[in-house]
Amino acid sequence: KSIRTFLYFSILLIKQNLPNMNLLEKKLARYDIPQKAKAAGIYPYFRAISSEQDCEVVINGKKILMFGSNSYLGLTNHPKVKEAAIEATRKYGTGCAGSRFLNGTLDIHEELERKIAKWIGKEEAIVYSTGFQVNLGVVSCITGREDYIICDESDHASIIEGRRLSFSNALKFKHNDMASLEKVLASCPIDKIKLIVVDGVFSMEGDVAPLPEIIALAKKYNAQVMVDEAHGVGVFGEQGQGICHHLGVTDNVDLIMGTFSKSFASLGGFIACNSIIANYLRHNSRSYIFSASATPGAIGAASAALDIMMNEPERIKQLWEVTNYALNGFREMGCEIGPTTTPIIPLYIRDNDKTFMVTRDLLEEGIFVNPVISPAVAPHDTLIRFSLMATHTHKQVDVAFDKISKVFRRYNIIR
Ligand code: PMP
Repeated sequence: KSIRTFLYFSILLIKQNLPNMNLLEKKLARYDIPQKAKAAGIYPYFRAISSEQDCEVVINGKKILMFGSNSYLGLTNHPKVKEAAIEATRKYGTGCAGSRFLNGTLDIHEELERKIAKWIGKEEAIVYSTGFQVNLGVVSCITGREDYIICDESDHASIIEGRRLSFSNALKFKHNDMASLEKVLASCPIDKIKLIVVDGVFSMEGDVAPLPEIIALAKKYNAQVMVDEAHGVGVFGEQGQGICHHLGVTDNVDLIMGTFSKSFASLGGFIACNSIIANYLRHNSRSYIFSASATPGAIGAASAALDIMMNEPERIKQLWEVTNYALNGFREMGCEIGPTTTPIIPLYIRDNDKTFMVTRDLLEEGIFVNPVISPAVAPHDTLIRFSLMATHTHKQVDVAFDKISKVFRRYNIIR
């Protein structure tokens, strides 16, 4: 009887709290995690920046050191990049009013594609409007019903969404675990198409895919390979061509994906591949065909950023110099940073609430970092993502060390 009374009052309470809501609203109203985080004063998202994306930004009128940017080469406010965006806008206007396929291809889209193809070392490159759309549009259409798409479990969300849209059989292997990949490959028919898709540099953990081993397994089991270079281009390679180039495996990777939203200081993305694959994608990839083309300003900026990458390799050296300085410093501080070797440094917290509280406290101390919680990482792997730009100074990194060690001690993350 008491259970029935409890249920009656619970339903009454829910009805009172959800007045006049339709079924959809009632379902969505139950999602209240953000409201709870806001009420607790630890909500860490959508922090509005009122300045350029630089090593220092302005938030709520206060100067903040930016260690949460993907602008690895610090080019978002480079005078040549800005000028190129303005110049392209002056000549071509603000938008293309259609998709690349029908009416939105400009000569500068094609010039940029030719430049990327040559720089990365593939026959062709196709420019999409965002990196997300590249992965979504490529992975979803390239294989068929009887084929297999095999992903690392830590692959970026855009790859996972592409796999979900595909009619192919979806398989995954344990993160960077070659025994797990081999087991998955061995379970697939040898005469069916198998596409292995991995992040070259993992976006949250900063570790690198073992591409030579992946390629060897692909050869053994008659599979093809696609690598997401979102965090590889501009970072690896003497002219920023990415991790495939750095490891000398470009010719063994069938598709190389990149984005303009990070080192390229713009918005958009590309897929580089041979002409047979490119021809298929240009006529079947739905996020390319049925979505408006990247704006002239975005293309102008990306093209200028690529020129700088190719002509000023010292920027990449600078990025690695400050990255190694930060990696050593965090290790000396006693932080758990995992196997990263790149400008993406995960500082493991392993607790959702603490991750939010540390993010809030660091912002109060003038340091911007990104909290990474589930589903971006497994629930027990929550972390603070600290990322470097070529333009960061040692002095700025030292300030971050000082503040991070103070806040981490407060929460017993380090001793
Ligand atoms: N792939 C990876 C690995 C990424 O980190 C991102 C962006 N976070 C994307 C693809 C999507 O790129 P974009 O932001 O240009 O849409």
